Amino acid sequence: MKKIIIILSSIIVIIFIILMIFLFNTDSKDKDIKETKDKEIIDKVPKEDNNEFSKLSYYREENLDRYKAYQSNNSDLSIEDIVTRVNLNLDKETYTDTIPSTNLNTNYLLVNKFNYLDSSYIPNNLELLDNSYAKSGIYLVKEAKDNIERLISDAKEDGMNIRVISAYRSYTYQENLYNNYVKNDGVENADTYSARPGYSEHQTGLVVDVTKAYDNFNNFENTDEYNWMLENASNYGFILRYPKDKENITTYSFEAWHYRYVGVELAKKIKASNLTFDEYYARYIESENN
Ligand SMILES: [Zn+2]
Repeated sequence: MKKIIIILSSIIVIIFIILMIFLFNTDSKDKDIKETKDKEIIDKVPKEDNNEFSKLSYYREENLDRYKAYQSNNSDLSIEDIVTRVNLNLDKETYTDTIPSTNLNTNYLLVNKFNYLDSSYIPNNLELLDNSYAKSGIYLVKEAKDNIERLISDAKEDGMNIRVISAYRSYTYQENLYNNYVKNDGVENADTYSARPGYSEHQTGLVVDVTKAYDNFNNFENTDEYNWMLENASNYGFILRYPKDKENITTYSFEAWHYRYVGVELAKKIKASNLTFDEYYARYIESENN
C-alpha cells in the first residue's frame, strides 16, 4: 500500500512539473509574439515621419532640421508658414544657395532672389505692345500682352487711364540698371529696390509696371487706377506681385505698380488664397511640376 502511494505521489509530482513547464513556455511564447508585433509596428513608421510638419503635402524630409530651427526662432508662425518659408529658402540670406529657375516659358515660372534666369534666357513669343497701351519699345510674351491690352481697354470703359511703362527687360538691360544703382547708391541699398541681373522677374516677359497715364509710378498707390487693378487684374490673369506687409516673404518692398501675369485661372486662385506668388508656388505648384 505504501509503495502504491509513493508511486502515485511521484506521478502527480511529475505531471505537475510537466504542466508547469508547458504553461511557462506558452506564456513566454505569447510574450515573444507580442514583442515582435510591437517592434514591427514601430519599424513600419519611419522615424522622419514622426513630426508635426510631415502631414503637409509640401513637406520635404531633407529640410526637417531647418523647419525645427526656423520654428524655434519663429514660434508664432503656423506649421504651414514654417514649411513654406523654409522651402522658399527664407531661412537663408538672399542670393545664397541660388538655383536656376525651372518651368521656363510657362505662366508659373518663378523668379526671385533664390531662383534665377540664365543670362541667355529670352522668353518665346515676345511681342511689341501697341503705343496706345504703353511707352514705345515695350515687349511682353504674347499671352500676357493680349491680356494687358484687354485689361487697359476695359479699364478705360470704367474711366481708368492705365499705361504700361516697363515690361520685358533683357539680362543686359537689367545688368546695366543694377550696376548703375550700385555705382550711385552701393550694393546694400541697391539690393533693397533693384533685382540683380538674372534675378529680375522682368526677364520672364510676364511682368508689367503700370501707372496712371503720364503720372509718376511712385504715386500709383494713391490713384483710382490702383484700386481698379487690385479689384480686377486677376480677371485678366495678373496678380500684384509684391504686396504690402509681405516684404519678409517676397523680399521686396511693396510695389503698387508691379503686376505679374500667371494666367486667369491661377491668378484667381492666388488672389482668393491671399498668398504671395512665392508661397502659392511653394505649396501647390512646385511639388506638381518638378
Ligand atoms: Zn517691376
